[in-house]
Amino acid sequence: SQTTPQEVIDLIREQEIRMVDLRFIDMLGAWQHFTVPAHELSEEAFAEGFGFDGSSVRGWKTINASDMLVMPDATTAKVDPFMQVPTLVLLGNAVETITRADYERCPRSLAARAEDYLRSTGIADTFYVGPEAEFFIFDDVRYRSDKQTSFYAVDSDLGHWNTDREEFPNLGYKVRAKGGYVPVPPTDSLQDLRTDMVLALEDLGIVVERQHMEVATGGQAEIDIRYDSLLSQADKLAWFKYVIKNVARQAGKTVTFMPKPLYGDNGNGMHTHMSLWKDGQPLFAGEQYAGLSQMALHFIAGVLRHAPALCAFTNASTNSYKRLVPGFEAPVNLAYSSRNRSAAIRIPTYSSSPKAIRIEFRTPDPACNPYLAFSALLMAGLDGVQKRLDPGEPLDKDIYSLSPEELAGVPSVPASLDGALEALEEDHEFLLQGNVFSRDLLEAWVDWKRDNEVTEVRGRPHPHEFALYFDT
Ligand code: GLN
Ligand code: MG
Ligand code: MG
Ligand code: MG
Repeated sequence: SQTTPQEVIDLIREQEIRMVDLRFIDMLGAWQHFTVPAHELSEEAFAEGFGFDGSSVRGWKTINASDMLVMPDATTAKVDPFMQVPTLVLLGNAVETITRADYERCPRSLAARAEDYLRSTGIADTFYVGPEAEFFIFDDVRYRSDKQTSFYAVDSDLGHWNTDREEFPNLGYKVRAKGGYVPVPPTDSLQDLRTDMVLALEDLGIVVERQHMEVATGGQAEIDIRYDSLLSQADKLAWFKYVIKNVARQAGKTVTFMPKPLYGDNGNGMHTHMSLWKDGQPLFAGEQYAGLSQMALHFIAGVLRHAPALCAFTNASTNSYKRLVPGFEAPVNLAYSSRNRSAAIRIPTYSSSPKAIRIEFRTPDPACNPYLAFSALLMAGLDGVQKRLDPGEPLDKDIYSLSPEELAGVPSVPASLDGALEALEEDHEFLLQGNVFSRDLLEAWVDWKRDNEVTEVRGRPHPHEFALYFDT
């Protein structure tokens, strides 16, 4: 949209907005905010920015140089649907004081640089991204009168969802592990809630293509939003998570996007559909395998080549690697194939219209920071196009059922977050092109993930270790 600061100020007057909520995305992908009364938002304020303490934001500034500014982006204005007092939300970028340069660890300006870089290559002008974010809807125990009836508990002895747990009353129509795709109500008990989520998204201008129950037990859900260009789509995903969580909260439910909350059942993926366009024309349709263009095959090769390093952004939690195991529709092997849900890259065959031709990278999960993950994917694909990389032969088989001999030579995703971080340390030149990613951001990312996530998880006794070792 074309909204200018003056148009935002007019909107505030017309809609009797009282508060302006300024939001920025932190390095790890979570929204942070502070709120000013509407009279504080002038045209000068748009130009000057709003100060905040960058040392209190995870992974950002040190205490001795902590002043930062958030610069609101007038094109992002939306009225918040959850706040009691009429509140306008503006997304912004974090910038340095004094120099007023883009802050290198601000994911939102990084995504904008990735789009600029794409245009500067002349290869394409638009990178369309279509994420399919999955999530679980659980009962929020705080809202239950009788906690004994909760089937929410994960049995710490078994280390997984205990579907045999006694329930009072037994309500029937229960979804068994991997039994959630796609029965009608009453087995699907969350239809109305998902519809409320869809309506709230559409009221915010985020177009939804479909909502449905997903394969796992425990209320797994998927809501697909229409494809959009990189930065705009990442902004929409930030809104998406906010809306999903808040609609769930209003209904006494709680939502998680963590990749693998339940042992022995499907996890939460965020399959990411991707295509390059130029002058309004799709560039991935052609005469090659599965109706792809040569450019699309090079793009696939770039993504597969850099996939272990990409995982540090697309699968950025220790929990992500509990999802990337065989048998749960999540990929393990770095191969491509049409129609194939056991490959890391699937080429959907639902439509042969050139505009619908795209590739689906199935590895990412919704706990990632989409600004960084989508930017990294674009950079990997572009590297493949620029170097004319060859993706090799497609692997049109059920990859889960292949023997180790048959899988020899097919690379796999890293086995852990630590492995992905090591891969990123080895392979990151492609991210530095056009100064899209900086060395500072890459170092901050690896340090944060290692010190606060890998080491912290590794150091804690696991519930299953008690089952294995307590009686030894
Ligand atoms: N939940 C699966 C995953 O982890 C995907 C299931 C599906 O959408 N077919 O990626
Ligand atoms: Mg889907
Ligand atoms: Mg799905
Ligand atoms: Mg999919």
